[in-house]
Amino acid sequence: MFGSLVSRDGVTGRLVRRFRCTAGRLGATGFNLVFPGRCERCEVELDGIDDGVLLCDDCRLLLGPKAWPGCPRCGAADGTNADPDFGCDVCRGKRYWFDRVTPLGGYHQGLRDVVLQMKHAAHDSLSRAMGRLLALRRRGPLTDLRLDLIVPIPMYWSRRVTRGTNSPEILATAIGQSLGVRVDSRVLSRCRNTLLHNELSQQMRFRNVRGAFRLSPGRLEKGSRILLVDDVLTTGATCSEAASVLKKAGAEMVAVAVIARTEGRQAT
Ligand SMILES: [Zn+2]
Ligand SMILES: [Zn+2]
Repeated sequence: MFGSLVSRDGVTGRLVRRFRCTAGRLGATGFNLVFPGRCERCEVELDGIDDGVLLCDDCRLLLGPKAWPGCPRCGAADGTNADPDFGCDVCRGKRYWFDRVTPLGGYHQGLRDVVLQMKHAAHDSLSRAMGRLLALRRRGPLTDLRLDLIVPIPMYWSRRVTRGTNSPEILATAIGQSLGVRVDSRVLSRCRNTLLHNELSQQMRFRNVRGAFRLSPGRLEKGSRILLVDDVLTTGATCSEAASVLKKAGAEMVAVAVIARTEGRQAT
């Protein structure tokens, strides 16, 4: 509405955009219908939304298919012969400490670009929208997990300072708000800075994250059912290591939710 009245490059335009961001954070259904804002990905003006996800219909379909046909154990898109407990041809025989993986989608061009944008603080509102979209699209399987707690994969402090943002934490908060599940980003901490995984082999990735996470005393109840949240899952090394710390501390079940599941070596 305001986009047609003021220049989006001017001071007034920036104020309007900031107000829209605030409106998106509020996520209030009636408010968004009156003052819908723009799609966080393609910036098209939204006609009106009633679920707090500031993404247009085209972006929703591109970024988050309505159902994920992959393997429930490892999340692989090509989850041929998948069984919830024994896995698929991709993961059978591999040992993970997590029990389930629920991705929003595969690591295709659209999601890849979004994941890269989410690493920058300027796109925090996009991260928030993606967390809400994941909760919306995967509400069924996530609700079936009977979750007690949501925990983001922690980022080492120096990386967080360099980036100025922490997308797993923003995603986890948005998912928790949408599902009505408590989020605690202090359950786990990263006690050393690990190498970026892009150039590491599968075996090296598991070795690289060994011992990288520490449990904060007194923050985890035994028997908890936990959802770990990260932006991307490739080999599962990072999430498996984090899940091992939670399981050894008495968690009953640890599942993983990610924006993108990749099976190549393109991401961490
Ligand atoms: Zn869009
Ligand atoms: Zn599998």
